[in-house]
Amino acid sequence: MQFAQRLDNVETSAIRELFKLLGKPGIISFAGGFPDSAMFDVEGIREASAKALAEDPGAALQYGATEGFNPLREQLAAFMVEKMKSTGAQVTPEGLIVTTGSQQALDLLGKTLVDPGAKVIVEAPTFLATIQCFRLYGAQVIGAPIDAQGVQVDQLEALIAEHKPRFVYLIPTFGNPSGATLSLERRKRILELAVKTQTVVIEDDPYGDLYFGEAPPPSLLALTAQVPGSRDWLVHCGSLSKVLSPGLRVGWMIAPPALLAKATMCKQFSDAHTSTFAQATATQYLKAGRMPGTLARVRTVYAERAQAMGESLKKELGDAIEFTQPGGGLFFWARLTGAGGKLKDANELAKRAIEKGVAFVPGAPFFATNPDVSALRLSFATVGVEKIREGVERLGKAI
Ligand code: PMP
Repeated sequence: MQFAQRLDNVETSAIRELFKLLGKPGIISFAGGFPDSAMFDVEGIREASAKALAEDPGAALQYGATEGFNPLREQLAAFMVEKMKSTGAQVTPEGLIVTTGSQQALDLLGKTLVDPGAKVIVEAPTFLATIQCFRLYGAQVIGAPIDAQGVQVDQLEALIAEHKPRFVYLIPTFGNPSGATLSLERRKRILELAVKTQTVVIEDDPYGDLYFGEAPPPSLLALTAQVPGSRDWLVHCGSLSKVLSPGLRVGWMIAPPALLAKATMCKQFSDAHTSTFAQATATQYLKAGRMPGTLARVRTVYAERAQAMGESLKKELGDAIEFTQPGGGLFFWARLTGAGGKLKDANELAKRAIEKGVAFVPGAPFFATNPDVSALRLSFATVGVEKIREGVERLGKAI
């Protein structure tokens, strides 16, 4: 069978191969990127779906508009405006479209903005599925270096000047896999840079609500209210996946009107619209006012787990590993230092770790360019505190 040439640009992920090994009994897995299913507000979603069917079954079960179910667009716009009240940035229901997870927003952005051979800039490291999605459209994906405060703006500026990318894709808050959060000062500089160089900046923000202590700086979208002209270059992708349920497949995209119109056209040919039943359920859920309680609950549980993982990593691995304690999200990003002649190659450690009954994801695939083989990603989200301690202990033995 002859497959489309565009598939030559993408390989199935190395991570998938690793996941095959996770079925081994007794394994403690820090490898997933999932939220904990024990955290789902099943009762709230049951009530919301029942209400969606009771109130307007015709709408909940019928075809719908590609842009999204209007009552949900209203709820999501209000949700965003509330989150951005510190800067007063506004979003109207017409200013956003509902997408089938934020993953679809990324796909639509690839479709609408990337020609074969075009360059795009992402953080190094970044979300693996994004690299692959943009490559599928023929993008040449270039990595920009990050540190604990997110992407390094001077380097980003130089890369933009050199490559004239179609866009810059960032996960500014509790990045996947980096856990890093872009500082307020860098956020403003990036918006200024977007205006100065007329470059689209995509803010992917599925984790921003999952903070453990202090709230992170306002989103890039929120900060557009303080940087004249920047709203014309900013795209924001949101998702209910990490806080409510990824199975609902409800995300959204906020973008300048011309881009939103093109993306909507592409979505029409892709899935016509996001499941109306899921959208009607999400609408009722948000309307019922359950979100603040759910957020408080998941933040508390993930915060405990993150703390346990940080403490255990220090205790069990000592100077063999370096990392920054994440302030939110689902991930620890760490580097093997090789101190005391210990392992420095995360791929090798991953194999030995599986033998000891613990799994994590080696970091190299998260780099579009120049992979760091000493990096690894550990998720604490689906593992209870005791098991986290046990898992990290096993990791210590493996190293
Ligand atoms: N962006 C990032 C950074 C992610 O980590 C994920 C999920 N792992 C997604 C987008 C896609 O999420 P969803 O499609 O479920 O909204």
